[in-house]
Amino acid sequence: MFIVWGTKVVRRVVGRRADYCQLCQGFQPATLIRVKLVNHVYYIPVNAGSLIGLEQTCETCGLRLEANDLGEYPQVSHDRHADVETLLEDTNPGARHRWAAHIAWDDALRAGTVTPANRAQTMTDTFVLANYLVEARTAHWNFDKLSSAACVLTLTCLLGGLWLGDSMGDRREDFKSTVVALTVGLALLTIVLFLRDGHRYTRRAVLPVLARALRPLKPTEEELSRLLQNLKSREMKIGKYLDAHQILEAMVQFD
Ligand SMILES: [Zn+2]
Repeated sequence: MFIVWGTKVVRRVVGRRADYCQLCQGFQPATLIRVKLVNHVYYIPVNAGSLIGLEQTCETCGLRLEANDLGEYPQVSHDRHADVETLLEDTNPGARHRWAAHIAWDDALRAGTVTPANRAQTMTDTFVLANYLVEARTAHWNFDKLSSAACVLTLTCLLGGLWLGDSMGDRREDFKSTVVALTVGLALLTIVLFLRDGHRYTRRAVLPVLARALRPLKPTEEELSRLLQNLKSREMKIGKYLDAHQILEAMVQFD
């Protein structure tokens, strides 16, 4: 008998805290996640596993970064409805002091008082952070609403065709050909939509976050095109999935 066994990565929510998010450029609620490597048989965990580390995910933009050991936090909140101010007070009371230099930097960016070199570097750093969101999404296969709907439609067409086939009498063969052609067409559409999930996710979820973060820098279309080309040449997916015009259009809504 063939037995499926091995190890797999398991993520468990530990609680919530607040921290400064460099992509949101402000304090945000964050979810703490414990990451373990566990043994499994047929994908069912069979031991407690060994700790790989802790992750902290910004609840506003989804940026996931490595977190410190739990012992370094005063406490972790289990209140799912606590706002950012309450979380800061309870879980990260020294945050404003620790992030003071970065907050001052973001204020200077908003005021337009940084040097051109620093502005250019901040723009690159912002794209690199946003690219984490894209890479995290595309590290696994995903069915979003659109590709799921296409998949359901394909199966409905196939199963409906099989069910109705016998009642077609003399027209059975023609009906069968039509169902096969339609099913193949829908299956191809599903595959295309499935493969382009990363593009759609980037435009739907990453573009608004990126546009909001870039707005204080007031980039030109030429600057964005050059930067995207550079990121593309470095194999960063965000450079392939977005273009300068889309980013400028998305920035308008934050004016
Ligand atoms: Zn964020």
